[in-house]
Amino acid sequence: MTDTSWVEGAEAGPYGLAHLPYGVFSTAKDPAPRIGVRIGDQILDLRALATGTFFLPWIRPAFHEHDLGGFMAMGPPAWRLVRHQLTELLGDARHRDQSATLLTPVAKARMHLPFQVADYVDFYASEDHATNLGRLFRPDAEPLLPNWKHLPVGYHGRAGTVVPSGTPITRPSGQRKTKDGPLEFGPSARLDIEAEVGFVVGVGTELGTPVSPDDFAEHVFGAVLVNDWSARDIQAWEYVPLGPFLGKSFATSIGHWVTPLDALAPARTTAPVQDPEPFAYLKEAERFAYDLSISVSWNGTEVSRPPFAGMYWTPAQMLAHMTVNGASLRTGDLYASGTVSGPEADQRGSFLELTWSGRDPVSVGEGERRTFLEDGDTVVLNATAPGPNGTRIGLGEVSGTILPALA
Ligand code: CA
Repeated sequence: MTDTSWVEGAEAGPYGLAHLPYGVFSTAKDPAPRIGVRIGDQILDLRALATGTFFLPWIRPAFHEHDLGGFMAMGPPAWRLVRHQLTELLGDARHRDQSATLLTPVAKARMHLPFQVADYVDFYASEDHATNLGRLFRPDAEPLLPNWKHLPVGYHGRAGTVVPSGTPITRPSGQRKTKDGPLEFGPSARLDIEAEVGFVVGVGTELGTPVSPDDFAEHVFGAVLVNDWSARDIQAWEYVPLGPFLGKSFATSIGHWVTPLDALAPARTTAPVQDPEPFAYLKEAERFAYDLSISVSWNGTEVSRPPFAGMYWTPAQMLAHMTVNGASLRTGDLYASGTVSGPEADQRGSFLELTWSGRDPVSVGEGERRTFLEDGDTVVLNATAPGPNGTRIGLGEVSGTILPALA
């Protein structure tokens, strides 16, 4: 087996043979959504492959479904087997003639949500982000609240408004109150983003079964980039005492392609040391982070590069925490890291932090300055991670354009 693909140009970009993310696509000619795997600028049709004898009989039904749910539920043995077969098919040029007809250019495909989102949980795992928000919202107090270093703080979001990249985002309206202003109802004037990394559960659990952080790879299928759109003025007024609600639930965008955990193996790196030591249920036998570099572009100008490796709480710890009370997991559960921010000013994953609550506008192109999002603005998130042999794979992209509020 080779480690490069025969698909033209595939190895020059972030979707080479070492990546092989899964998505759901359709075409004008065949509008039924079906599962594909991305290689370069092409999509290999797995439904078409599953009509032959390529996959083992017990795996084939999963690729006749309209999303990744059935395949994700099959667990690591199926994930490994399929990835191995696809690597061989797309890596060995002897398969070119029989497989080239199963390729569709990404440019000709319509992309759908890759999986049905079961529950959506959002964490708050970046120490730099939590510290920045503490300084902004509670300037006279300790930036981190007393619980923050003892547990990964999180909340349940709205699964039904998770949308695929490219979906336009209508500016939400709601009750809003700024520090000194009166209480009003109207379109959010402080519309923001949160650059996050999301993890998708494949294998669920029975109610009453906590998951150890060391079993992370037994349950989690892969990762997607997430933009957790946030209306700061609505959020600031409504969040006491039960937490985020309508300031967050209007839309959350995710990437079209789910990167399998195996493709992220070369990106594993050490996670920050924790002090104080967490409870045993949050302790990992081998603590690790993923070295993803995120890029945030605002109307085409890169304004931030948040680093994911420095997150205080790891994806494995988040999974352990959200199940420690016995809450079950379902196929399609999505949990996101919370805003990824680094220690530097140009590593902040929200505009609230980047502009320091609107005090320091950022330049987003020729003469254009911004504090929060204006109608017509477009935000694009991308990320890269180390692949094998000095290569890089890319997670992406998550884009969204702001539409005016409904009249
Ligand atoms: Ca968030």
